Amino acid sequence: MDFDFGAEDEELRGHARAWLTAHLVGPYARAVGLGGPGSEHEGVAARRAWERELGRGGWIGQGWDIPDGAYGQRRLSLTGQVVWAEEYAALRAPGRVGHIGENLLAPTLVAHGSQEQRDRFLPGIARGEELWCQGYSEPGAGSDLAGIRTAAVRDPGDGLFRVTGQKIWTSLARDADWCFVLARTEPGSRRHRGLSFLLVRMDQPGRVEVRPIRQMSGTSEFNEVFLDGAVAAEVVGREGDGWTVAMGLLALERGVSTLVQQIGFAAELERVLAAHAAAGGGSGGGSGSGGSFGDGGSGASGGSRGGDPVLRDRLVRQWAELRAMRWNALRTLAAGDDAGAPSVAKLLWGGWHRRLGELAVEVRGAAAAAGPAAWEHGLPYELGLDEEQRLFLFTRADTIYGGSDEIQRNIIAERVLGLPKEPR
Ligand SMILES: Cc1cc2nc3c(=O)[nH]c(=O)nc-3n(C[C@H](O)[C@H](O)[C@H](O)COP(=O)(O)OP(=O)(O)OC[C@H]3O[C@@H](n4cnc5c(N)ncnc54)[C@H](O)[C@@H]3O)c2cc1C
Repeated sequence: MDFDFGAEDEELRGHARAWLTAHLVGPYARAVGLGGPGSEHEGVAARRAWERELGRGGWIGQGWDIPDGAYGQRRLSLTGQVVWAEEYAALRAPGRVGHIGENLLAPTLVAHGSQEQRDRFLPGIARGEELWCQGYSEPGAGSDLAGIRTAAVRDPGDGLFRVTGQKIWTSLARDADWCFVLARTEPGSRRHRGLSFLLVRMDQPGRVEVRPIRQMSGTSEFNEVFLDGAVAAEVVGREGDGWTVAMGLLALERGVSTLVQQIGFAAELERVLAAHAAAGGGSGGGSGSGGSFGDGGSGASGGSRGGDPVLRDRLVRQWAELRAMRWNALRTLAAGDDAGAPSVAKLLWGGWHRRLGELAVEVRGAAAAAGPAAWEHGLPYELGLDEEQRLFLFTRADTIYGGSDEIQRNIIAERVLGLPKEPR
């Protein structure tokens, strides 16, 4: 695939950089570098306001498959979206709080929703005003999603579904205005039949209750969501065919989003390399440009592993694997649909990112494991953790969410390699 940036992309790059620089001021400047996986508790109010600023600039919904400007959004080419993501990462613009609506729900409405539903929900997402969360997993249904028990029945009065059940691990539910919920709408149906994809407003006191779950990072990015007769405003796709809609949404975790995600990964790897260099492990840096690693040094301090050749080997391997993932993502985009591509990509990046989290603390040696100095000053555990410690703790989850490693291997085994199905 020809993935060179053309003159138009470079013009966009200049425009994007200028816009971001001009707008990352005042309250938004204080949100620079805040948020993102593992740090979603940081600067939430400022980051919500930043979403609206992005919306006013027309930067939300760049990849939606609808005409440019239909809902005020700027439609960008694939390379244009990558350019924007690169500039966004380079300036450490605030972690997005609207990504579930923008990248999961909106494309699903474009593919499966009615025109009325698109007209009703896409403007709020494009303006950065309405945030969404994903209500799939339940205490008894994670990997085995078809086992969900949350049920919905039509109210004879207004004809709308009333949803009752429990969802779990619902990321960002506390800040969300809406939730897309997979629920059983045909009583007595089994497995993936008889489910519907419903849109539920979160602000329904007594009918929707969110209970945060404290994670090992000390923060609560995900939550339990209890639904007790919650009103569902809409059904997306055909009633009873929610499985098709839900699976289509999961398949969105590929394509350009993988490339954009890798830009964030590269920035994190740079930080780890810099920490290694600072600990006496060489010059560091250069992962994006193919620069060389230093020779290691004798200046390691504070129990760090700066001169450790095994660590150096792992850092080089980490860099090379990121390059390989990038080439694979480009190849997949060029080749179009490939049955195993999403599972292969998830397997690769999940494990890669988890290993990066390990390296982030290991390059600092014993000091990283001893606990943040901030604790000694009485700061709560979660506030005392630094960026690299949070990266380590959060990336333990990378091989679980979005389909665990074992599930990806099952998919590849059965659907790509044609191996016998696992016994049920
Ligand atoms: C950080 C994070 C954010 C999340 N956000 C959301 C969200 O916003 N919305 C949402 O709906 N869900 C969310 N989830 C939930 C996520 O989708 C589930 O955790 C995931 O699907 C696994 O389900 P489970 O936790 O029930 O584990 P289980 O399905 O119980 O699996 C437990 C273990 O058994 C293994 N296993 C299960 N079945 C098989 C099998 N057939 N063969 C081999 N091994 C198997 C799994 O790989 C895993 O190791 C999130 C999870 C995390 C960690």
